[in-house]
Amino acid sequence: MSVAYISSLRSKDPRTQVGACIVDKNHRIISTGYNGMVNGCNDIDMPWGRSKGLDGKYLYVVHSELNAILHARINLEGCKIYVTLFPCNECVKAIIQSGIKEIIYLNDNILFAGLEIPVIIKKFDYYSRIALNDKIKYCRIKREVIKGKYHYYAQFIIEGVPPMSINKTTGEIKHYINNGVVGLDIGTQTLGICSKTEVKLLELAPEVQNIEKRKRVLQRKMDRSRRATNPNKFNDSGTYKSKNNIKWIKSKHYIETQMQLKELYRKQREVRKHSHNKLANYILTLGNDIKVETMDFIELQVRNSTISKNTGKIIKYKKFGKSLENKAPAMLLTILDTKLKWLNTQLKKVNTYTVKASQYNHVKNSYTKKNLNERWNDFGDFMIQRDLYSSFLIMNVNDDLSSINRDLCFEKFDRFKVLHDIEIERLRNTQLTKALRNVI
Ligand SMILES: [Zn+2]
Repeated sequence: MSVAYISSLRSKDPRTQVGACIVDKNHRIISTGYNGMVNGCNDIDMPWGRSKGLDGKYLYVVHSELNAILHARINLEGCKIYVTLFPCNECVKAIIQSGIKEIIYLNDNILFAGLEIPVIIKKFDYYSRIALNDKIKYCRIKREVIKGKYHYYAQFIIEGVPPMSINKTTGEIKHYINNGVVGLDIGTQTLGICSKTEVKLLELAPEVQNIEKRKRVLQRKMDRSRRATNPNKFNDSGTYKSKNNIKWIKSKHYIETQMQLKELYRKQREVRKHSHNKLANYILTLGNDIKVETMDFIELQVRNSTISKNTGKIIKYKKFGKSLENKAPAMLLTILDTKLKWLNTQLKKVNTYTVKASQYNHVKNSYTKKNLNERWNDFGDFMIQRDLYSSFLIMNVNDDLSSINRDLCFEKFDRFKVLHDIEIERLRNTQLTKALRNVI
């Protein structure tokens, strides 16, 4: 293929340079070719335009495959041809008739619904270039709205393990993965981490800003516009006519606002994903034996209801819905699990109902149910933050993942306490966000 590529460089076509190389059964090179004008016509003087007429290239150009076949002076029975572009039907006919049995083609384009879309890979994007050496399982076209415009991306799903990312200036491997046990206590807003070397209480995706206000402004704008352009779809009282099949009319203003809203969502998604990835990489530097309590996030999103004192009507509200929407804790676990699978292991999910990390006390060996606003565990002489203590207990769960190893707790507790105190000290000396102020 490299030879085919090199011969493609000889082509004078300013737009598409194609090269072909024919080899025999023993991989000996028989012939090469590139797309060029017929003999006798000067490649430089001839027109290279894309018009179909006399002033276009199509009437005069001989394709690389055909050139390679014609320049071969021997019988091509059983040979292979390497081409740097998917061959056209005319060339395939010639290839078949010449006796060539296999076509191997290189293609930077994606064929999608009859379209040929060129793929752009940045020149110094080493990560992508190394990743693309692995086999592509499948690809899909992704559409994203960026600043009000549609952008289309080709997304490759590639087999195998992603390449290590390397610091370009020092050559050091980024996010080096260490051996060791890590316990995670994941909440709707925060994450308690416990390992041999570090104890941390972090806010999930702290970069994600609350977009509720801006969202509501845009939604109200859209609602006003919708009502103004579709008066026949609303009753005089302002309620929506449900049995009305007239098509919605979207004004230009409405579509613009809708795009702005999509942009807002997209940005938030990107920021959150990036933040989770960073956090997952950090967790992996602490250890690759990661234990976490299974938490039914969907259950948390279920609406609770109360009865209004004034009207007697049932009021439904989401219990933790909003914060779950913003921080996506389950997504962090999915990312972490995917990264662990590349290391041939997986996230160890601890049985929440038998372990009951939030209720256990390893000193007393007892379980006490705690109120959600009790943030500290009282050990007599000192206090331990609730989520960090949970992550410590989760770290010390037995291999069956359904009981806490009390001996291990005693063995590791002193060290944990030192690291815990350092972390609490750190938190006390920083400006805390609302999410963290709620837990310490
Ligand atoms: Zn052709």
